[in-house]
Amino acid sequence: MRHKSFFILLFTIISVLLNSGQAYAQVESLQTDVTHTFGDTIQFRAGVVSTSPIKAAIIFFQADGDTRTNLGLAEVETRGFRRFDLTYIHSIKDYSFRPFSVVRFHWELTFQTGETYTSPVEFFVYTDNRFDWQVLKEKNLSAHWYDGDLQFAQEILDIAQDGLQKIQNLLPMPEAGAIQIYTYADSASLQSALNTGGESWVAGHADPDLGVILIALPKSPEQLLLARQRIPHELMHVLLYRDVGSGYFNLPVWLREGLSSGAELYPNPDYQILLDESVAQGRLLPMRSLCEAFPREASSALLSYAEAQSFTNYLHDRFGASGLEALITAYANGMDCESGAERALGKNLSQLERDWQREALSQNVALKAFQNLLPWGVLLLAVLAVPLILALLNLRGTSQ
Ligand SMILES: [Zn+2]
Repeated sequence: MRHKSFFILLFTIISVLLNSGQAYAQVESLQTDVTHTFGDTIQFRAGVVSTSPIKAAIIFFQADGDTRTNLGLAEVETRGFRRFDLTYIHSIKDYSFRPFSVVRFHWELTFQTGETYTSPVEFFVYTDNRFDWQVLKEKNLSAHWYDGDLQFAQEILDIAQDGLQKIQNLLPMPEAGAIQIYTYADSASLQSALNTGGESWVAGHADPDLGVILIALPKSPEQLLLARQRIPHELMHVLLYRDVGSGYFNLPVWLREGLSSGAELYPNPDYQILLDESVAQGRLLPMRSLCEAFPREASSALLSYAEAQSFTNYLHDRFGASGLEALITAYANGMDCESGAERALGKNLSQLERDWQREALSQNVALKAFQNLLPWGVLLLAVLAVPLILALLNLRGTSQ
């Protein structure tokens, strides 16, 4: 730790000398210390040694993948000869950052002489430090956890590797690259980290541009089954982003969620039941309503995932991996929900939706209906057969 601090200090001093041609005479050293209380505040503090008194100090900070640059006017305190302390406290209520994002910052100082100085850019990671995270790494994957033993972390990594394999079997994808998997011990902790506000069903989340996955895996007999569902799902989000870059955000939500649900090693068993019921009751959600966003209410959200998974699976069966790749490319290039499908697959979204309902859903429902009626059919045949046989016997009798 002491070595690390020394090198950071040395690096800062060298950077100060190299980068501040116009004002290096003023700043001899600048050392920042950033601490944060997750979900509450970020405290930026710097000790500066300067030959000229500091009149004003501004901190600039921005998270990776975020477009907003925050800035704050720091409090400047003189601490004896040529020494100054800078303090700025940012309230997360004013502007929040995604959990585990990298936040980059620099200082701009103005001296009494009117000259200015810009410090080198440094960074810190906005970790969810409400918990004491442990980490286990294997190749490009890191499992972070705070509740459970080393065996649990190894299982997370093994499931992630299986998930990556399944994804490659579905679609050719780029190399995964570094991915951080954070496992929360309950959904409430995950939801409070994400600040989801009311979506009490959320149990997994990916920030694909950060390569960060958050999942909730409460201790229960189903813990590893849920891991096999949630980890590959979120991995698919990250890989899709790495495949098409920021075009990922142009993909219809049904396609992103459909592909991710299709990657699950343990698919949600409720989806098929929900689909069958919705078909029977004529209350399927139109696919075009699932292009921009999914409903937030729990039962409609679940049905949206079920439809997205079934529809995407149907497209994969019918058009193959190459068809899905063409579809992803068309949408990533900015085509809208209807015409992207037309360009890639030769039919617009509404036509494909009708085909899917007729070929994948109705058949299934008809088959179910047939299976349900089968015992009654057998009984009916039996009931009809008795008088028929009697009549035949009678007929035979009279002809003799
Ligand atoms: Zn998802």
